[in-house]
Amino acid sequence: MKRRIFFKLAGVSALMTFVPKVFAGVKRSAANSSKQLVNPFSTKGQWYKTALHVHTTTSDGDVDVPTRLQQYRDKGFDVVTITDHRQTNNLSGYSSDDFLVISGIEFHPKTYSGAPAHHLLGIGLPHPYEYNKELSAQEMIDDMKSKGAKIFYAHPYWTGHGYAEMTEVSGYLGVEVHNEGCRSTDSCSGRVHWDQMLNKGHVLTGVATDDVHKSANVGLAWTMIKAENLNEQSILDALENGSFYASNGPVIEDFYVDENMKVSVKCSPARKIVFRINGSGNGNVVLSKDSNEMVTAEWDMSRKKPQWVRCEVIDEKGNTAWSNPIFL
Ligand SMILES: [Zn+2]
Ligand SMILES: [Zn+2]
Repeated sequence: MKRRIFFKLAGVSALMTFVPKVFAGVKRSAANSSKQLVNPFSTKGQWYKTALHVHTTTSDGDVDVPTRLQQYRDKGFDVVTITDHRQTNNLSGYSSDDFLVISGIEFHPKTYSGAPAHHLLGIGLPHPYEYNKELSAQEMIDDMKSKGAKIFYAHPYWTGHGYAEMTEVSGYLGVEVHNEGCRSTDSCSGRVHWDQMLNKGHVLTGVATDDVHKSANVGLAWTMIKAENLNEQSILDALENGSFYASNGPVIEDFYVDENMKVSVKCSPARKIVFRINGSGNGNVVLSKDSNEMVTAEWDMSRKKPQWVRCEVIDEKGNTAWSNPIFL
């Protein structure tokens, strides 16, 4: 046994001697496994409709910052993060008592494997930020985190990424379970990527975003954040803690697991409710008898012994709300 360990360690150190600098700092496990999420349905606070992935003419969007912000105000959003590619914006003066604007970025560090670049969101990254494209992916994440940013993994399906690329880096809080901007290539969903990460013990949350570039796509998907107050620190804390759910239509009103391992959800009228867990079978689907009448569902999971459960509420139009996982 000792002999095998010795050879394994010897192999690693020999490899480290020859790898180019870009490989330095590779972390093979996202190391989020000890993180605790809060359940937003059992904490106090207010719900805020939030856009977390938004482009303007600062990069490749079709309108400038003030026009984009007004579009989101008109759609009833409370919080908007501007996330232009590789650069932040000066957003001072745009927030008010009932509308919060947060500085952010979408950044594109190289993958270690040579696959297409990562697309990551840095939310709450103060302006100005000096973007250094020479940094490795992990160094870039760590640098933004040190400045207060919350990191999310954007549209892995569109990028062509899987578990291998997602576990090249660590320190992100969640993944885009839905990215409306990827609709033209039918790659909006990140739910399989998310579940694969959850199944391997990574504590990750799910957000839904517009990834808006064209004005016609403003307000098609959002993240409902439960926070104590409408200020940047409260919103960023809620992102850190998992106090939110994702949606492109339905509303989740309550979601919990009781002491007998029964999972329950209350929601806006739904055609289908999915309780998704790890393990064979992947959960339970509850279908409405009529087209669109279900506002509650529950499922006894006591014989399944799952490590986590999340729910999806799907309405008559096929729009979905995705809860964050509850770890058991
Ligand atoms: Zn992107
Ligand atoms: Zn984008």
